[in-house]
Amino acid sequence: MLDVCLLGSGGMMPLPYRWLTALMTRFNGSSLLIDCGEGTQIAIKEKGWSFKPIDVICFTHYHGDHISGLPGLLLTMGNADRREPLTLIGPKGLERVVNSLRVIAPELPFPIKCVEIEGASQTFEMNGYRLKAFKVNHNVLCYGYTLEIDRAGKFDVERAKEQGVPQKYWSRLQKGESVEDGKLMTPDMVLGPPRKGIKLTYTTDTRPTDSIRENAKGSDLFICEGMYGEKEKAAKAVEYKHMTFYEAANLAKDAEVNELWLTHYSPSLTRPEEYMDEVRKIFPDAKPGKDKMSVELAFE
Ligand SMILES: [Zn+2]
Ligand SMILES: [Zn+2]
Repeated sequence: MLDVCLLGSGGMMPLPYRWLTALMTRFNGSSLLIDCGEGTQIAIKEKGWSFKPIDVICFTHYHGDHISGLPGLLLTMGNADRREPLTLIGPKGLERVVNSLRVIAPELPFPIKCVEIEGASQTFEMNGYRLKAFKVNHNVLCYGYTLEIDRAGKFDVERAKEQGVPQKYWSRLQKGESVEDGKLMTPDMVLGPPRKGIKLTYTTDTRPTDSIRENAKGSDLFICEGMYGEKEKAAKAVEYKHMTFYEAANLAKDAEVNELWLTHYSPSLTRPEEYMDEVRKIFPDAKPGKDKMSVELAFE
């Protein structure tokens, strides 16, 4: 089970009752945060989720509304007595940006490892999930992320017998271990075909791109920016390299996702709900993201 929380839904600046866009997930005791603007740590506190298990923080890009909350969060994690290493992932320049911000948070009780994303996309395997960063199209280098959790096939007794796998090894093989006893026995010898896993996609601060269409394909949940609900702001979205609600809805439709949450609203957009009837004509399973909106994604 993957717990997902959209911590905030604003773009550009935090507002009363609307924190900046950031995503937090919890899986198997390990938490992941994507983006950390001003006030993100308050949103985490309001949600009641713990700072201490945050093992990875990813950044889409280095605009202030996505990273200026980092030093404060690091200090809070230090105060929560975290000792385990923390991994930061982001576009090229991560180390320089983080070192600059850390002038005001120099002493922390845990080590930090910076991983700069290489090329158009990069995949990381960690903490039981697969995280993929893929390049999108903003006015600075920017990446979207997918998080996937695989699900192995069902245990197949007939297959295990056919392959002559002794029963005493069944449970180890089912857990994904390989066993050597006269011959090498691998999990695929006792398992049926892989079953559908869990997939989450998060993209913000970008124009619609093929990379989003391809990478978001079949997501259970697609969290996507929608800076403007007003149709007359389509040109503005192009100019500032953002999206309208309708562009996000078309991406969701093309990528055949299960559900779309909109986020990263312009501060001038006070009531995103007003535009949802039009959005749902394009993609029916669309919701206006709200601060601290969350869901548990489970295997089918
Ligand atoms: Zn932004
Ligand atoms: Zn931006």
